[in-house]
Amino acid sequence: QEENFVRLVRRSCYSLVKPAFLTETESKPRVVAWCPWVAEKLLDLEQGERDKEFTAQVFGGFRLLDSSVNFTYAQCYGGHQFGNWAGQLGDGRVICLGEYRNQRGERWDIQLKGAGKTPYGRFADGFAVLRSCIREFLASEALASLGIPSTRALCVVETGKQVWRDLFYDGNVKPERGAVLTRLAPSFIRFGNFELFAYYNDLETLRKLADYCIKHYFPEFLEATNSFSDENNRYALFANRVVELNAEMVAKWQAVGFVHGVMNTDNFSILGLTLDYGPFGFLDRYDPLYTPNSTDLPGRRYCYLNQAQIARWNCQKFVQSLISLYGGATVFNIMEKFDEKYSSFLSKCYQDKLGLLVWNEETDKQLVDSFLDLLQTDQLDYTNTWRMLSNIQTTDEFMQKDCAQYLLPANVTLEASRKEKWNAWIRRYIMRLREENNTDDLSRKERMNKCNPCYILRNYYLHKAIQQAETGNFDEVEKLLQVISNPFEERPELKAYSQEPPEWANVVGICVNSCSS
Ligand code: AMP
Ligand code: MG
Ligand code: MG
Repeated sequence: QEENFVRLVRRSCYSLVKPAFLTETESKPRVVAWCPWVAEKLLDLEQGERDKEFTAQVFGGFRLLDSSVNFTYAQCYGGHQFGNWAGQLGDGRVICLGEYRNQRGERWDIQLKGAGKTPYGRFADGFAVLRSCIREFLASEALASLGIPSTRALCVVETGKQVWRDLFYDGNVKPERGAVLTRLAPSFIRFGNFELFAYYNDLETLRKLADYCIKHYFPEFLEATNSFSDENNRYALFANRVVELNAEMVAKWQAVGFVHGVMNTDNFSILGLTLDYGPFGFLDRYDPLYTPNSTDLPGRRYCYLNQAQIARWNCQKFVQSLISLYGGATVFNIMEKFDEKYSSFLSKCYQDKLGLLVWNEETDKQLVDSFLDLLQTDQLDYTNTWRMLSNIQTTDEFMQKDCAQYLLPANVTLEASRKEKWNAWIRRYIMRLREENNTDDLSRKERMNKCNPCYILRNYYLHKAIQQAETGNFDEVEKLLQVISNPFEERPELKAYSQEPPEWANVVGICVNSCSS
């Protein structure tokens, strides 16, 4: 592993590295979680592959495919962490095996996370623990199933090696089960890849990297000019598109109540994919200040409420890093577009969540805001209340009832005054639906149930699955994979998984979640 020593790497986009386990002969790697639809649809792998020893060896980093030998690499990138320039970061424990072109002609980069140290490992060991691999495995597929752009996950392989972690940051390290996550994306290039070359003022490599991205991921802009300060400059078009994709991604996070937790610019993808799952979380009760990241306290830079603003800040860093290719005026223009795009994407999400046929930016926005206010005051579950909204009917008969009972979970009793507030909101919503003749209640319900999920990956259930996995039992991980595989279709046998967590789980904060593990 001599060549993997930690260092500053200049003028390169990546370094060739080999997984640390290639020389291992004693350990028996084992596939402990496997995503069948990723295996089949993205990698053309048959179900039987899962249980082969060879599979565990390849996706555990114990053996390379012939076509990968001498080509595996780690990327070099920088980034802003918690708002501060952090210099060179890079894939500290990620090794790319190469690219697979599948039967449908799609190209997927395949990476191993946790297969050993690279030149970018800084102070850390290059490994990953089982719990963090399971978290990323399930979360990336949960988001993908919700229709949110994300990197994908094939499997988790237990390495049989121990990894030492300081769980409570109190200096007491303890051994944990080590694992490797196999993840896929059309590209893992991040904002930070560009920021690093801009920081070094290495404009030649910066331009090369931009050219590479345009050629491979945005070939539609190849036709455009490359002359500085031209509005049709291909780099400006590229940057603009990256910003749009990220505005769309974060709007979708907001709509579904996903909180990333570590929105550093090195975790932002040029394809607008949700990337690098660490201490993420979904909202249970609606709390705009919720952050799942214990190292984000007390500042809450990355809380639910701030995500759009932070995404904008990140985009600005990215757009600025390309300034030598198009000039300052372009930065300003593109950032204005972010605001436009974000708000139109978000409005579209809310329109769908409310089942509206047409969106009125002013009054419908108010309708959503007052709904969220009610949720917050009464501490109701974000996901479940949105889901129940599809039970509202537009008939006179329904209006005469105590409508609120159709939105509130059976175990919740509100004070009369609160209940009246809910009834008033529901009446306003019904009037709005009637106004646009949106009175086919059944078909609206069907539409709404396709965008308001009944299952999300709740931390509470994930935590239980991980606790079980740490004893060697992966049944709950498997169960959660089924749950998230189809988040919109109610399945009676999975009812428990749509339930909000018990009171104590909200109070204690069940997971110790911070950045890298
Ligand atoms: P993250 O907070 O997980 O996005 O990681 C930030 C940086 O630390 C990235 O450059 C990672 O590659 C690196 N890193 C995180 N954990 C490890 C680890 N266990 N070993 C080596 N590098 C790591
Ligand atoms: Mg590629
Ligand atoms: Mg990262």
